[in-house]
Amino acid sequence: MAWDFETDPGFQEQLDWIDAFVREHVEPLDLLLGNPHDKGDEHAMAAVRPLYDTVKARGLWACHLGPQLGGQGYGQLKLALMNEILGRSRWAPSVFGCQAPDSGNAEILAHFGTEEQKAEYLEPLLDGGISSCYSMTEPHAGADPALFTTRAVRDGTDWVITGEKWFSSNARYASFFIVMAVTDPDAGPYRGMSMFIVPAGTPGLEIVRNVGLGGEPGREASHAYLRYDDVRVPADCLLGDEGGAFVISQTRLGGGRVHHAMRTIARIRVAFDMMCERAVSRQTRKGSLATLQMVQESVADSWIEIEQFRLLVLRTAWLIDRHQDYQKVRKDIAAVKVAMPKVYHDVVQRAMHLHGALGVSNEMPFADMLLQAEVLAIADGPTEVHKVTVARQVLEQYAPVDGLWPTQHLPARLEAARAQYAELVEHLAGNEEDDLSERGPR
Ligand SMILES: Cc1cc2nc3c(=O)[nH]c(=O)nc-3n(C[C@H](O)[C@H](O)[C@H](O)COP(=O)(O)OP(=O)(O)OC[C@H]3O[C@@H](n4cnc5c(N)ncnc54)[C@H](O)[C@@H]3O)c2cc1C
Repeated sequence: MAWDFETDPGFQEQLDWIDAFVREHVEPLDLLLGNPHDKGDEHAMAAVRPLYDTVKARGLWACHLGPQLGGQGYGQLKLALMNEILGRSRWAPSVFGCQAPDSGNAEILAHFGTEEQKAEYLEPLLDGGISSCYSMTEPHAGADPALFTTRAVRDGTDWVITGEKWFSSNARYASFFIVMAVTDPDAGPYRGMSMFIVPAGTPGLEIVRNVGLGGEPGREASHAYLRYDDVRVPADCLLGDEGGAFVISQTRLGGGRVHHAMRTIARIRVAFDMMCERAVSRQTRKGSLATLQMVQESVADSWIEIEQFRLLVLRTAWLIDRHQDYQKVRKDIAAVKVAMPKVYHDVVQRAMHLHGALGVSNEMPFADMLLQAEVLAIADGPTEVHKVTVARQVLEQYAPVDGLWPTQHLPARLEAARAQYAELVEHLAGNEEDDLSERGPR
């Protein structure tokens, strides 16, 4: 019977250590340091390098990756349990070597990269010394990659890339860019696009501007509007097969989506803890907020939604480990992606509301959390697109009914049951007649 909701005691010890380490050493840095992707920030790096070393010594660095890549091969389920803690802190994922988007980029380099590409890009990325950028969305088209127009044309032994990309996160800190471009316009989106590695500083690659989220000040903005103007890279910068970008992007985004969900559980719990603390602390004339039924409803609904979401995420992580193939878990990952922003939004909104004016002020993190919930509904594809994926895959398992009536149509079922159990029906009918003669008509 392999159905178990318990964490094995050895790994639970690791989780307890992670919990204490993050709380004591990493969370305070969130309030002091800038962007974790900025590896050029010497002060920040001086503060976090000893933490990297502690995590590495403990065997917890990038531990979802296999030993050949310096990890423990823990897989996605254990990563999920870790991320439920790491997601509390802005810096913790990078301190543990599993920071997005670098973790997703590392995954595709590991899957599809040549030995030379791994040595040049993957190893320093895994070592935490550099950051990377994933450059796919375009200013005129995000949700539908079939509309992308950035073009890569073969010229002798080189490829020349031309086009614009939008919201390429961390471009300003990246040492290299993984770029999706059309290489064969006649082959369609599934076979006509390829992935390239473009080193930062390649002539023709320009950050038009860095875009911020919400009211983020311009100096911190880190989602780039990029221009690729005749960017020339050698043929060995092609990542994977020519025409293979769609498959690579699905591998990357599959992992990325579920990793975001794992970390989101941690953020939702922070909001939930704040809600409960407020409920038991704030007094009305009749007692604490916690004694009011509508507050209790907020707490109960939130707890139930969090538990449901967490189980969906853990089961999806378990399925990924089982199948070792994101394509086979596409429906589940899409479902997680749809559920994530809604649970996060609803819990944060309730927690914010219970804090009154303080909740909407800039002295609490709720406004930023609400924005993050909305970001989760858009980045890596909007909710609607993922709902369609879920629905299509579910509906594939159904066939149209033969004839006019639905399978559960009661008269048709009764007729079939009567035909199957004709003898029993006859017996029941006889008894009914006896009953009637004894009791008279009902
Ligand atoms: C914080 C953040 C970080 C990001 N980082 C990166 C990154 O590093 N690299 C990268 O390449 N991209 C990145 N993105 C871009 C992200 O992947 C896109 O924003 C996303 O795919 C949606 O594309 P869009 O913004 O062009 O929205 P659009 O495609 O214009 O969609 C807008 C809205 O239209 C509706 N819609 C669109 N298509 C459909 C449809 N088929 N069915 C139903 N409704 C639809 C939805 O309501 C959707 O929200 C990031 C985005 C954010 C917010």
